[in-house]
Amino acid sequence: NDNFGIEKTLKNLGISTENNGVSTGGNYFSNGDFIESHSPTDGQLIAKVKTANAQDYQKVVETAKAAFKEFRMIPAPKRGELVRQFGLKLREYKDDLGKLVSYEMGKSLQEGLGEVQEMIDICDFAVGLSRQLHGFTMHSERPGHRMYEQYHPLGIVGIISAFNFPVAVWSWNTALSWICGNVTIWKPSEKTPLCGIACQNIISEVLKENNLPVGISSMIVGDHEIGDHLVKDKNVALVSFTGSTKVGRIVGKNVAERFGKSILELGGNNAIIITENADLDMSVIGAVFGAVGTAGQRCTSTRRLIIHESVYDEVKNRLVKAYGQLKIGNPLDENNHVGPLIDQDAVNQYLNSIEKCKAEGGKFVVEGGVLEGKNYKSGCYVRPCIAEVENSYEIVQHETFAPILYLMKYNNLDDAIAMQNDVPQGLSSAIMTQNLREAELFLSQSGSDCGIANVNIGTSGAEIGGAFGGEKETGGGRESGSDVWKYYMRRQTNTINYTTNLPLAQGIKFDL
Ligand code: NAD
Repeated sequence: NDNFGIEKTLKNLGISTENNGVSTGGNYFSNGDFIESHSPTDGQLIAKVKTANAQDYQKVVETAKAAFKEFRMIPAPKRGELVRQFGLKLREYKDDLGKLVSYEMGKSLQEGLGEVQEMIDICDFAVGLSRQLHGFTMHSERPGHRMYEQYHPLGIVGIISAFNFPVAVWSWNTALSWICGNVTIWKPSEKTPLCGIACQNIISEVLKENNLPVGISSMIVGDHEIGDHLVKDKNVALVSFTGSTKVGRIVGKNVAERFGKSILELGGNNAIIITENADLDMSVIGAVFGAVGTAGQRCTSTRRLIIHESVYDEVKNRLVKAYGQLKIGNPLDENNHVGPLIDQDAVNQYLNSIEKCKAEGGKFVVEGGVLEGKNYKSGCYVRPCIAEVENSYEIVQHETFAPILYLMKYNNLDDAIAMQNDVPQGLSSAIMTQNLREAELFLSQSGSDCGIANVNIGTSGAEIGGAFGGEKETGGGRESGSDVWKYYMRRQTNTINYTTNLPLAQGIKFDL
């Protein structure tokens, strides 16, 4: 079984059985240890990757520094042209890259392709933006003076990404970084290094075709040690980190220690409030996709449902029925709804969370468990499950990166909003209602405290056009659309005096 043509896909993407995990664009090298990438879909070894050591890292940084000096002088719309061509190349590679994402990470093929589509979309967005990096101009209080502000490139942007969006998060950061005139160094998750290599191969083609210097797009494969190098390096102006709150806390501190800039995109604990006025058909579909899509391994996965008491039993019964129809299996097979978890550690965390939930009094209405048999040889396939809980349980306050859905009941919307907000994380949230008053209250300043608040849409997934990110322990960062590009540039206020006098601000007199 060649697993839906995966061998050909690997070949098309330039991945061999042994790969170098360090690249400055065009060239590859690496002197660290080998890591292995196994597919969670079938447990097979896909390929080996040699990681970056400290000397490799140093070489990458020096190359990036030199490239920045050249790249920052290229006009922004011309840098946009690079991103436009990258978007075209991604269209060519969409099927292969989407399939690799599905095979190496374990999400469904549709979701893998969706991730690549997000990359294409952010390229299109960034191309337009490359002609719109504008600041304000304002009136000076002094006669014969002009005042305005402009945005300059930052330098090197370091990107550290999580396993669950192994390609899209990189592109959100690179597409904006490049049009802003920055060069990038990416440390992909060590759980999905081949997705990193495939992306680096694609951008390297574009850079080469345009005779651009090496060092505009670099990659270092490795674990937390090499990530730590990047985080603590004062040459790296901005660290964009996507991952767990636990690691984000360390990264945030280390970057702040050296007064670097950071964007932190950390864990979520997302809830949907289903009111008595909700369309229950939509609510159930939104909740099931949000909870089981990517096997519950999205930062925006639906973890909690807060349901009005008058519709609680009906929603619960419909969910139990829907879960009974879920097909679990190889994510490359489009008949399946749910694929595997990323690895054995993730399976153990899922099992521990179920135990903890039971110990705290949780009542499972759909039981979980690990699947066994010839279709589940990797040992990473688990049953999506549903438990009735209290919001205050310790386990409910915690993000378990697996398909466990918690149900809770409310009888007044203020209480439901308070429950929705009463967790340490603040990423995504949603209300299902056809009542205008309920929807507006949820969106008001006394409503959801999350970075994303939706009406009649689930919590899961987002469009690239909006700013993406969350509050509280989700880290406060924003990526992708809207005016997020400003995070990737340094802001400068300029005042120009075109008179022969030197009037001081605030009318201060200083006569000699
Ligand atoms: P993780 O925190 O274990 O790892 C993320 C990355 O950090 C990896 O590349 C890892 O090698 C690196 N890393 C680990 N220790 C480091 C250190 N000390 N210094 C520098 N880098 C270090 O996360 P994961 O398991 O890959 O991903 C799942 C988590 O990511 C979940 O919590 C999820 O909610 C979160 N996530 C958040 C968003 C968002 O946009 N908010 C998006 C995707 C994933």
